[in-house]
Amino acid sequence: MTEPVKRKLVCDTCGQEVDQVRRDVVDADYNAITKPPLWNCERCYEQKRACRREGGRDGAGGGSP
Ligand SMILES: [Zn+2]
Repeated sequence: MTEPVKRKLVCDTCGQEVDQVRRDVVDADYNAITKPPLWNCERCYEQKRACRREGGRDGAGGGSP
């Protein structure tokens, strides 16, 4: 059996097939230990980075004290 060497990678965020994926950077906010590694395409990767820069946090239930 000879399978094609070129394997398409899939972005975990948008599910698009890309030639190259980047692993989500390990941040202090990101619990890489408990969560499986996320692979993102360039687009999603940049988007996440931009989102982080803006200070947007997902999953953080912040309320007034
Ligand atoms: Zn993507």
